[in-house]
Amino acid sequence: MAEPLPLGANGAPAAPTYTPRYIDIGINLADPIFRGRYHGKSRHPDDLAAVVGRAVEVGCTKLIVTGSSFKSSRDALKLAQEFPGTVFSTAGVHPCSSSIFSPSHHKHHDESQSEGEGDAEPEHTPACDPDPTKPIPDGDGVDLARSERIIADLATLIHDARQPSLSSSSPPHLVAFGEFGLDYDRLHYCSREVQLHSFAAQLALAASLSPQLPLFLHSRAAHDDFVRLLKEAFGPRLERLEKGGVVHSFTGTVAEMQELAELGLYIGVNGCSFKTEENCAVVKEIGLSRVMLETDGPWCEVRPSHEGWKYLVEFEVKAKEARLAAEAEAAKAAAAAATDAAADASDSGTATPGGTEKPRRHRKWRNPPPQQPQPRGRNQKKEPDVPERYKTVKKEKWEEGAMVKGRNEPCTIDRIAKIVAGIKGVSVEEVCEAAWANTVKVFGVDS
Ligand SMILES: [Zn+2]
Repeated sequence: MAEPLPLGANGAPAAPTYTPRYIDIGINLADPIFRGRYHGKSRHPDDLAAVVGRAVEVGCTKLIVTGSSFKSSRDALKLAQEFPGTVFSTAGVHPCSSSIFSPSHHKHHDESQSEGEGDAEPEHTPACDPDPTKPIPDGDGVDLARSERIIADLATLIHDARQPSLSSSSPPHLVAFGEFGLDYDRLHYCSREVQLHSFAAQLALAASLSPQLPLFLHSRAAHDDFVRLLKEAFGPRLERLEKGGVVHSFTGTVAEMQELAELGLYIGVNGCSFKTEENCAVVKEIGLSRVMLETDGPWCEVRPSHEGWKYLVEFEVKAKEARLAAEAEAAKAAAAAATDAAADASDSGTATPGGTEKPRRHRKWRNPPPQQPQPRGRNQKKEPDVPERYKTVKKEKWEEGAMVKGRNEPCTIDRIAKIVAGIKGVSVEEVCEAAWANTVKVFGVDS
């Protein structure tokens, strides 16, 4: 079922119309879940093209697909080649994928993980929830020879991915270095010491590129180390960071956000940024000149339990009120026109055949305006607080054209914009246009 169009649409005469446009700066479309594969098992047909189609349909016409390991960076690049000008990619090693730098890692870092029977777990991008239960302790050290090979291979991957757009005017495929950074909320994937090494080694590579790439950064519960390593690589004011960068999926404090903004970095906001009242208070302080929007799908959807949900409900209530008012206005105008037409008909009926027309009576209301449309039947299912533009089904009951429950998609990015607008007390248009301009400026995705 179609979601009501934005305010001012539906033919409302005087209301201003704005068609929102979005760039999802962080979408993990390389995750096998978008091919219908969940934990190594195929649950439904590959519907990636439909996911991209739904995104474009809602106005999310640019998708920056996250590379968070060698495999996902290569897969993201393939998607960028498949959907040129719509999909763009990043390449890097996520802190949660950084155990490849550890001496206890037994597979080759660039091994293409097969999803075949009996093989390793397929590579899902790590979900956004913290897990403090089983942290991998420090002390294992880093395999420096392996690290050198990883960085050399990453440099080659990036070099090869950039060649077509550096040597021609075709749209770029690879637009950022990353996702990389630090995540101390999820030490069960990789120890702190290995994460620190992975981040520093990749920062050194990012700084050595010519020209540099903008950075797509991840920082969770690690702010001080994160900023320290950035400054070590790019100078105390990040003055050697040529193309800037974004710290995505931001969940830190106001002071941390401000420090990043003062360093010239942008702040990426998704469903995880609205979980608590404190989270929302931070979002309120992000300047429009610093904000970028993302879904981080298949993860980080906005849930009714999140603090930010209430802004979504508030938006929908206001939108419905405005829509009803516009409909009432249109009905009133239609009634007036109908009355006038009736008057005209009766006027012409009394005209003298062949003679001069009688002067027309002054047009005025003769009947009260028609009643508002009756409310729907009582037995009808209650409308949800926040309407869903697309039907959502469980993966076991997958059907064409439907979204899958629990698998966040870029077509939900309007929710992020609406919540940011609600929290900041500005219009959706202001949020969308600011985020669009910031994203185009940093990642150059408009060419
Ligand atoms: Zn991330």
